Amino acid sequence: MLIVMNPGATETDIWRVVETIESLGFKAHPMPGSNRTAIGLTGNQGAVDPAPFIELPGVAECVRVTKPYKLVGRDLKHDKSVIRVGEAEIGGDEFAMIAGVCAVESREQAMLTAEVVAEMGCKWFRGGAFKPRTSPYAFQGLAEEGLKILSDVRDEFGLRIVTEAVDEPALDLTEKYADVIQIGTRNMQNFSLLRRAGQARKPVLLKRGMSSTLEEFLLAAEYIMSEGNYQVILCERGVRTFGDHSRFTPDLSVIPAAQRLSHLPIIFDPSHSTGNRETVIPMARAAVAVGADGLLVDVHPYPERALCDGPQALLFDMFRDLVAQARAIAEIVKQHSDAHGAYSTVK
Ligand code: PEP
Ligand code: MN
Repeated sequence: MLIVMNPGATETDIWRVVETIESLGFKAHPMPGSNRTAIGLTGNQGAVDPAPFIELPGVAECVRVTKPYKLVGRDLKHDKSVIRVGEAEIGGDEFAMIAGVCAVESREQAMLTAEVVAEMGCKWFRGGAFKPRTSPYAFQGLAEEGLKILSDVRDEFGLRIVTEAVDEPALDLTEKYADVIQIGTRNMQNFSLLRRAGQARKPVLLKRGMSSTLEEFLLAAEYIMSEGNYQVILCERGVRTFGDHSRFTPDLSVIPAAQRLSHLPIIFDPSHSTGNRETVIPMARAAVAVGADGLLVDVHPYPERALCDGPQALLFDMFRDLVAQARAIAEIVKQHSDAHGAYSTVK
């Protein structure tokens, strides 16, 4: 159930509703919006009686949610969520470019890449210290040593760090060093890891499972939010199909579909979805055009020597070109969606 407050409801009114929800043994999720606050109620097994809430001061209405997810949906929060770390944001006015290495391999490799990312005015750096690899014999990442290098990247260039946690011990460590915790495609339905990410007090970048429906994707985000962490960024990274010309099939249609149902920002990863650097820029352009809130891309100073995903890593000049193109397209999309009120710019 959602409890929608009047636009003039005070902090005390909101607090009283929260207290009433908790006194009944449920969990309260207040979501402030631009006009009014709505409070999500979770933890109930069947329908909840609205009687204890409807008469409370400041309450406008109690709404039953029929969708399987409650907190990720636009019923609870119509305004688009913006995830902020310092001055860096995802889902806001500025198109978000998260770029960096697939795996942190050495200090030199990470620093050389970060220099170019910062030089292009991007605010986010990605790099894996824990790598989910198909083969147990493949490079698994530098673990804490990699996280320390990422921390040095932040100190040196002021970039915000996005890095993956593959399991709960990795999440404990990642939470200490990262600005945004990534949950990868293979863990999208690792429910205990999702709950643990929901207890973290850092934003979570959730990649879509490679065979997941949009509803499963949104319910995975709901797991994180149901634990009280509302800072979730969705990421489309390609799905499995019969196509073998591309590593995965980028499903760009999920971007406007997710924006219609959810207030969460959604970005696109052209690197892991195509697996091939020649296709990264064309697919990235298309994703920006359909209204993605940002891109997540792999770059490498010498991809032929990369320990992970070299064929998809952009060379520095390709990356510079991509940033210029993405910004130009994002600007056009913004102007036109402002005019027509597309979901991608609903704030
Ligand atoms: C990654 O971003 O490094 C990664 C492993 O991606 P995915 O989980 O989408 O395969
Ligand atoms: Mn990779």
